[in-house]
Amino acid sequence: MQVLVLGAGQLARMMALAAAPLNIKTIAFDVNSEAIVEPLTQTKLGQGLEFAIEQADVITAEFEHVPHPVLDACQASGKLLPSAEAIKTGGDRRIEKALLDRAQVANAKYALIRNQDDFKAAIEYVGLPMVLKSTLGGYDGKGQWRLTSTQQVETTWLEMEACISAQDSQAIIAEEFVAFDREVSLVGARNSKGEIVVYPLAENVHTNGVLSLSTAIEDKALQGQAKQMFTAVAECLDYVGVLALEFFDVQGKLMVNEIAPRVHNSGHWTQQGAETCQFENHMRAVCGLPLGSTEMLRPTSMINILGEDCLPQTVLAMSQAHVHWYGKDKRPGRKMGHINVSGKDEADRKAQLEAITKLLDPKAYPALSQK
Ligand code: ATP
Ligand code: MG
Repeated sequence: MQVLVLGAGQLARMMALAAAPLNIKTIAFDVNSEAIVEPLTQTKLGQGLEFAIEQADVITAEFEHVPHPVLDACQASGKLLPSAEAIKTGGDRRIEKALLDRAQVANAKYALIRNQDDFKAAIEYVGLPMVLKSTLGGYDGKGQWRLTSTQQVETTWLEMEACISAQDSQAIIAEEFVAFDREVSLVGARNSKGEIVVYPLAENVHTNGVLSLSTAIEDKALQGQAKQMFTAVAECLDYVGVLALEFFDVQGKLMVNEIAPRVHNSGHWTQQGAETCQFENHMRAVCGLPLGSTEMLRPTSMINILGEDCLPQTVLAMSQAHVHWYGKDKRPGRKMGHINVSGKDEADRKAQLEAITKLLDPKAYPALSQK
């Protein structure tokens, strides 16, 4: 079995690692160089995309910002899972918001902005404070503005206008500012028979708009709400593969912030904490294999390594810490790898997280001192 992954970053790499024991061979399409590469080494395989599409048994994606002509060519081959429609939904906040409304899942009040009149109307309708997000190309908190007072309207508009005119069919979504208690996410898988499995929720901490710490949690009431919303969204898209939903927890009621039609950073804990990791379950779902158990084996936290390319040996020496590097060149703030820290039980997980916090530079891992 050969799987072609659209995108050749760390998610494709971890899919390839999880797929190998199942005898699934993974190759990846690097959307920047337009080359077909081996996902662990980035070695160019000297194939064109057309040939790779023809040779693949299954095609999937590691992220939602894949050029539409590429998605359409893959969809036409009949091998793309999840569908081009599902992937495009994750890449355009307009379509995403329409989906959330169609699936009747709670989400922040919003308005679409294409010009200055729309912006005025959005301020009236949504109210301040508000969060403004570019509909295309946003990730890790990029392409976003916070509007808290009317004095910021002029300068914010100038920046938004530049953003709108920089890209074809770009627009801005204005969202009410949600005063959430915390952020959680649900990662799960659906296969082509419509069977669904979900992992325990993860509680997420963001630092400067980027996920920095994620911990699997057991909360029966929230888990039930999240699974119901996950099912509604996955069924609306006739989704096949791993899907993630990000939520705001507002006094025990969940609102969907956004969806990710792919394996997700907040699901990396499953590599050490669950019976089957999210990457293996994604491969199982798209290849038509039985879905694996999502049971939590060990309470686990995931720490993102942002902009750093080395760790003290003492971290590797910890028996309950596992390091996953992505093989990337160092850049400030860049997701370079992650560490999964597990415990025998919840108290032990906390103790292990405390222990690793003492080994890491607090400037590089601010979320650990905030927790
Ligand atoms: P990522 O790719 O990391 O998920 P993103 O760029 O897709 O991020 P969002 O998830 O929409 O963007 O927003 C990033 C963060 O900004 C959220 O995790 C949350 O902390 C905050 N945020 C987003 N929307 C709102 C909102 N309406 N009210 C309050 N905070 C918000
Ligand atoms: Mg997000």
